[in-house]
Amino acid sequence: MSSVSDHDHIDAVLDRLRGAQPPKAGHARDVAADLDHPGCHLRAVLDAAAIDKAALAARMGHSMPEEQSPAALRRGNLFERIVVEEGHLLAEARKQLHLDISEARYKDLSDVPQGLRGRAALKWRAQRTTDALADMLTDPNAAYNILRHPVTTLRRSGRTCYLEQDALAFVVGGRLYVVEIKSFAVIAGVPNERSHVSQAARQSAVYVLSLQQALMELGFDPDVVSTTTLLITAKGYGLTPTSHTLDVRNELKALSRRLARRTKLSTILDELPDDLTFDINDPDELAEQVAKVDHHYTPGCLSSCSMARACRQRCLSGDRLDRLGQNVRSDLGVFDTVADAVHAARTGAVPRGITGTPAVFAADVTAALHLAHEAYVDAGGVA
Ligand code: SF4
Repeated sequence: MSSVSDHDHIDAVLDRLRGAQPPKAGHARDVAADLDHPGCHLRAVLDAAAIDKAALAARMGHSMPEEQSPAALRRGNLFERIVVEEGHLLAEARKQLHLDISEARYKDLSDVPQGLRGRAALKWRAQRTTDALADMLTDPNAAYNILRHPVTTLRRSGRTCYLEQDALAFVVGGRLYVVEIKSFAVIAGVPNERSHVSQAARQSAVYVLSLQQALMELGFDPDVVSTTTLLITAKGYGLTPTSHTLDVRNELKALSRRLARRTKLSTILDELPDDLTFDINDPDELAEQVAKVDHHYTPGCLSSCSMARACRQRCLSGDRLDRLGQNVRSDLGVFDTVADAVHAARTGAVPRGITGTPAVFAADVTAALHLAHEAYVDAGGVA
C-alpha cells in the first residue's frame, strides 16, 4: 500500500474509487448525516469520492426507497419559486428578523462555463460564491444582496468538500443571514414532523459554519454570519409560506466538535488496497470490493444513509453483532457474532476475563439480546 499524503494523490485515489461513475455533489444534508456516523470509514470514503451512495447500493442489489418522491420534489421546487418570486422571502425576513430590507436583488450562482464538470465546476462556483460574498459585504449598494444556489466549502477529514446549498444567503446592514426554504407542513405553528425542523437546523448549521470559514479566509469576522437562521415552511398542506427563526448555536458547537474528531481521510485511504475500485457492475464482485473498507453499521443507518440495506446485508452475512445496534455492541462487546452471544446465553459459558456466575451471565446476555432485538425492529430492521 502506498502512502497517500498530498492532495493530488488523494484526488487520484478518489477518482480511481469512483471510476467512470458520474460524481454526485455534496449537500449539507450529507455532512449532517455523516457526522452521525463518525466511525464509518466507508461513508467517509464514498462522500469524499463524490460517489452516489444510492446508485452504488442499487448496483449491489440493495436499493433504499427513494428519499423524496417525484411529487415531493415537484412540490419543493414550486414552493421555493413561490417564496422567491412572489416576494415572500422579504416579507418573512422583515417580520421574523426585524430587518429593514427594501428590495431583493438576486444573484444566481448555478451557471458554469461550458465543458466544466464535476469537482472543477464546483470549485469554480465556490470561487464565484466567495467573490460575491466579498462584494455584498463591502459594498451595501452591490448589484445583489441575495445569493441563490451558492457553493461553499467545508474542511472535513482534512480535505475540502464542496457543498451545493439549497439555502439562500442574504446581507443586510453588513450581516449575513441564512434562509432555508422547506415545503413541509406546519399546522397551527407546529410542524407535522418535528424531526424535519431539527434536520433543517442541523443543515443550517452546516451552511453557517461553511460561510464562517469562507469569511475568515476573506479576512472578515466570522461573527458577521448570524447564528439565527430563517426557516420558511408551508402553512398547512397548501403552499402559503410561513416562517420561524432557528437558533443554531448548539448545532454549530456539536458540528465543530465532531468535525475536529474525525479521522483524517489520508489515514483511511492509506489502509485501502491499491487496486480498490467501486466502478464495477457485477453485484457480488462489487460487494467484495466494498467489504474491503471498514464500516460501522447500526440500525440508525436505515434512516440516514442510502447504503443501509447493503451494509445491513454485510453484517447479516458475517453474523456481526453490529446489526443489533450500538448499545448491544457495547453491552456484549466480548462477542464478535450474534451466534457466539446466543450460544453464551443458552449455555452460560462465561468467556475468559468475565467475572460472575454462569446463570447471571446468561441472564444478562439474554436480556441484552432481547432489548437489542426490540430496538432493531423499532428502527425498521427485519425481525
Ligand atoms: S449505512 Fe453503511 S456506509 Fe452508511 S453510515 Fe451506515 S455503515 Fe456507513
